[in-house]
Amino acid sequence: MTGKKTTASSSRGTPKKAKIEDEEEAGLENEEEATVTLSVEKDALECDICCLPFQSEVFMCKNGHSGCAKCCIRRDGKCWTCSERIGDMRCRPLEKLLAAATTSCVFKSNGCYDAVSYLERATHEETCQRAPYKCPIDGCAYSGLRLGHHVAQDHGRRDGLASIVFISGKAVATVRKDEPFRVLLQRNTERVFLLLNGHDLLQGRSLSLLCLGPRFQDGVEVEPRYKMEVSHGALTLSASGTIQFARRLDGFQAEGFLFVPDAYWGSAGSIAVTVRIYF
Ligand SMILES: [Zn+2]
Ligand SMILES: [Zn+2]
Ligand SMILES: [Zn+2]
Ligand SMILES: [Zn+2]
Repeated sequence: MTGKKTTASSSRGTPKKAKIEDEEEAGLENEEEATVTLSVEKDALECDICCLPFQSEVFMCKNGHSGCAKCCIRRDGKCWTCSERIGDMRCRPLEKLLAAATTSCVFKSNGCYDAVSYLERATHEETCQRAPYKCPIDGCAYSGLRLGHHVAQDHGRRDGLASIVFISGKAVATVRKDEPFRVLLQRNTERVFLLLNGHDLLQGRSLSLLCLGPRFQDGVEVEPRYKMEVSHGALTLSASGTIQFARRLDGFQAEGFLFVPDAYWGSAGSIAVTVRIYF
């Protein structure tokens, strides 16, 4: 037992009820009994083998031992408890419970009071408008809804000042070869743009753009675009596209980047990047 509880409730009600004579009363009664609020130990909704939460499909052997679809495949369809066949028979009652269950959003403490479908909670968390953003500055533990404000207030005046560029539409940012990113801030918004300087390429660097901050504005999804340019003598390299959003820098994978060969970085080990951000 982990001691962690998940609150689940069913909204479909029971299909068959005892015969009711008074229809008005019946309406009230059905409404009151349509949902049951339960507190369930988290591990009761997890696969016994991989300990991950069950998805929509749950399987069981003829002796009633259960497992998730992936574990049935990994174990070649053999029950890990009794060695009987598993993977053909679904555990419908548990699947029905999972499909009907709702839980609260993990960002409830940030003000999201939505009742979230248990099976779709990951999708909800992905787009939840009350999900926090993690500060990308090394050693800073801030995670919250006002990342732009935080970065400007807490990192804008220290030595870190040099690494923040204020941008309104267009800015020129100097990027040092040894810096993993430059922060681009638009005043008075909570969005923080990062000009990432990836070092995972041979003979050059990859520049890309990421936005840490809300994807929605007044309930409408925004799609900011960028254009960046790097010049070297008579040559100019450029890239443009849609800016990707993320909650945190760790684990972020850019879908596209501008390749800047080592020769562009010069003896000072830096380049000037002209960045435009537009909505
Ligand atoms: Zn499993
Ligand atoms: Zn079994
Ligand atoms: Zn939420
Ligand atoms: Zn910070």
